[in-house]
Amino acid sequence: MRHFDYKNGEMYAEDVPLRKIAEAVGTPCYVYSTATFERHYRVFADSFDGIEALVAYSVKANSNIAVLATLAKLGAGADVVSAGELARALIAGIPAHKIVFSGVGKTKAEMRDALEAGIRVFNVESLAELRALNAVALSMNTQAPVAFRVNPDVTAGGHEKISTGKKENKFGIAWSHAEAAYAEAAALPGIKIVGVDVHIGSQIDQLAPFEAAIAKCGDLIKTLRQQGHTIQSFDIGGGLGIPYGDNTKAPPLPSAYGALVKRLTADMNVEMIFEPGRMIAGNAGILLSEVLYVKQGEDRNFLIIDAAMNDLLRPALYDAYHDLEGVKAPARDFKQETYDVVGPICESGDTFMKGREMPALEEGDLVVLHSAGAYGAAQSSQYNTRPLVPEVMVRGDKFAIIRERPTVADILKTESIPDWD
Ligand SMILES: *Cc1c(COP(=O)(O)O)cnc(C)c1O
Repeated sequence: MRHFDYKNGEMYAEDVPLRKIAEAVGTPCYVYSTATFERHYRVFADSFDGIEALVAYSVKANSNIAVLATLAKLGAGADVVSAGELARALIAGIPAHKIVFSGVGKTKAEMRDALEAGIRVFNVESLAELRALNAVALSMNTQAPVAFRVNPDVTAGGHEKISTGKKENKFGIAWSHAEAAYAEAAALPGIKIVGVDVHIGSQIDQLAPFEAAIAKCGDLIKTLRQQGHTIQSFDIGGGLGIPYGDNTKAPPLPSAYGALVKRLTADMNVEMIFEPGRMIAGNAGILLSEVLYVKQGEDRNFLIIDAAMNDLLRPALYDAYHDLEGVKAPARDFKQETYDVVGPICESGDTFMKGREMPALEEGDLVVLHSAGAYGAAQSSQYNTRPLVPEVMVRGDKFAIIRERPTVADILKTESIPDWD
């Protein structure tokens, strides 16, 4: 069931007409469905019924504290990649023992914050980082729990910018260096080895790359145990794809993914950790926008909307596909039109879609960009001095602003002209 759908001739988010949100908050704005977040989390978590598993939601996909609090209530942990995200997770009520810390460039200050909080595990990506973490932990008279993120050299991910598990990517410890890395870690007094970690990419639309990565890591876990290391946890990362409404292959169902994981890890005797982001958040949010102008070009029509690449970067960054629909349901005798849909920013890259057929739209019409709940608001910026888009959370027939739109004065407050004299 879709929680963004037409009722009585107009699109609703759950039981709230999007038109009402646009009137109250203005456009562009993000709108999220609590019910969708909850359903996605449950579908994902339920597919690992019967095995020991921590679902550590990848905060970078959508880091709003209201989203995190919604997931925290269902028992979610968090995968964070900065001290800022760690603070968000803690404020939202996610207990530190369910927080894992990923990323290739953790600073010493971030390591200190995470050790102070008492997080579950650091996913370490280089020996240089390991040594720094050891020093920080020793300076605090403690031990840092560590898993190495290993790079299994498998191809996965829907776009070169979201493929992370190939040896040419910057991520993880090279496969051939993994055993030596664990040996070095075992000798450091500030480090406690707890697991193995891998994350092979994002928007993965088949099970085969997961199967390859899990099998390789299974072999590694066996070898590491033979060498005397204690491996309690195996973190398989995120990356499960979602349907974006285009005609590409449908991604695997979470239940199929869960069954695969159960089958491949049955004999491993590990606690599994998952870091889903997009799968939880992607289809739980839309970007609501208004048509500013319809412009007739020489060989095409442009729909100029008030949302832009600073609000939703995915089309510009990854050539991503997003469905677009009018908030008003098309009339029975609607006219079909073909548009390039663009934003107001002074960049040709500020194009959401090209040559897309859809029912004709007019100036002032509200439109919805679907599947914008993950890597939407989280990647937004104030380029062109466009204030950050507000975020709105819907629950049943209620809605709440969970991030306000700053004023231009708010933006300018942080800047100053030096008084050189
Ligand atoms: C981005 C990221 C994730 C989440 O990926 P999704 O494709 O959104 O599920 C998980 N783990 C790590 C380390 C990441 O960088």
